[in-house]
Amino acid sequence: MSPDKISPMTVTDTDSYPEDTSDAIDAPIPVTRSSMPDFDAFVREIAPLWESRWLTNRGEKVRSLEAELNTYLGVEHSALTVNGHMALETLLQAFDLTGEVITTPFTFASTTHAIVRSGLTPVFADIKSDDYTIDPASIEALITPRTSAIVPVHIYGTLCDVDAIQEIADRHGLAVIYDAAHAFGVERNGVGAASFGDASMLSFHATKVFNTVEGGLAVVKGTSLLAKVKHLQNFGITGLDEVGHVGGNAKMNEFSAAMGLCNLRTLHGDIQRREQVDAAYRDRLSGVPGIHLLEQVEGVASNYAYFPITVNPDEFGATRDQVHDGLAIRGVYTRKYFYPLITDFAVYRDTFDSTATPVAKRAADEVLTLPMYADLSMRNVNRICDELLAARTVE
Ligand SMILES: *Cc1c(COP(=O)(O)O)cnc(C)c1O
Repeated sequence: MSPDKISPMTVTDTDSYPEDTSDAIDAPIPVTRSSMPDFDAFVREIAPLWESRWLTNRGEKVRSLEAELNTYLGVEHSALTVNGHMALETLLQAFDLTGEVITTPFTFASTTHAIVRSGLTPVFADIKSDDYTIDPASIEALITPRTSAIVPVHIYGTLCDVDAIQEIADRHGLAVIYDAAHAFGVERNGVGAASFGDASMLSFHATKVFNTVEGGLAVVKGTSLLAKVKHLQNFGITGLDEVGHVGGNAKMNEFSAAMGLCNLRTLHGDIQRREQVDAAYRDRLSGVPGIHLLEQVEGVASNYAYFPITVNPDEFGATRDQVHDGLAIRGVYTRKYFYPLITDFAVYRDTFDSTATPVAKRAADEVLTLPMYADLSMRNVNRICDELLAARTVE
């Protein structure tokens, strides 16, 4: 797979797919479909912008959405950004990191690119085979005097081993900045996912559980760090006639914030419908030899962002790629998410060794995410499972 194939466009271009209409028996089923508000509700939300002509630079919509999100996520200090990637880059800059950053290769390109584009060296830890999150034991083994931070990813919305990671970070004086792009609304015993570590990045890209078309959130602890993030995302401007940092432009605009305000109102129902899809998949697929599902974790409220499975070719009787291609022929679009491993990308493969993280390497070869979105019909879930199980006979 060439690097351009893993660009967000390929994985998120849902416009080209027809919708999931319940009367079309064999209509193509996309892997994801963006949630959109009622059209009139959105028009009502943006109408005031024609009065104020305040379209960006922390207008009323951005400030209201920030306040609503802080409440929803159970955090105190956050800044909306143009997208999740720039939230992560802004956070890495805000912490004045140097040298090496320990992270996972089993993630979206953005996580590693943000580290490299910040002038830092990524060091890849392996993941745990049961939930694909970064393995704390592997982190510990990679710490050197040059290590300044850990950037773990709550992959598929599954929380990392946050307690073990924090303990390691505290012992070695490292910052912990979470890529929480998948974890919007996830909670552990009532504590929001964005509260762990020193900071978190969330993504509100069109394909995520909650979207602002494009958008993101940088969550930090303390008002001085929040001020720094807000300065960095606005060209480093620190006062009326003062520029105190080498900042970029990572601000969210008012139209995106308006989209967020509307989508937030229907989010609860969206997550409930995702939960039903998740339950239906589990019903059909748990116990199937060679198919491994992510386990549900006691005390964790999921957002049902994705439905990843792994296909063990020997036990299942078909490889992941055979399943993926066979389903595509029948109009069911699944995604090899995440394949290839970051360390196998053309841009990184000469610098890093993907065999050094064997668990991640195997996961990348066997994982497949099934279609998941709020208005995926139960009939289509059954059709997806029928086609998936039929792939076993594929030679
Ligand atoms: C979506 C995503 C990002 C990037 O977020 P954008 O809002 O698309 O910039 C980063 N990391 C992970 C794990 C993601 O899934």
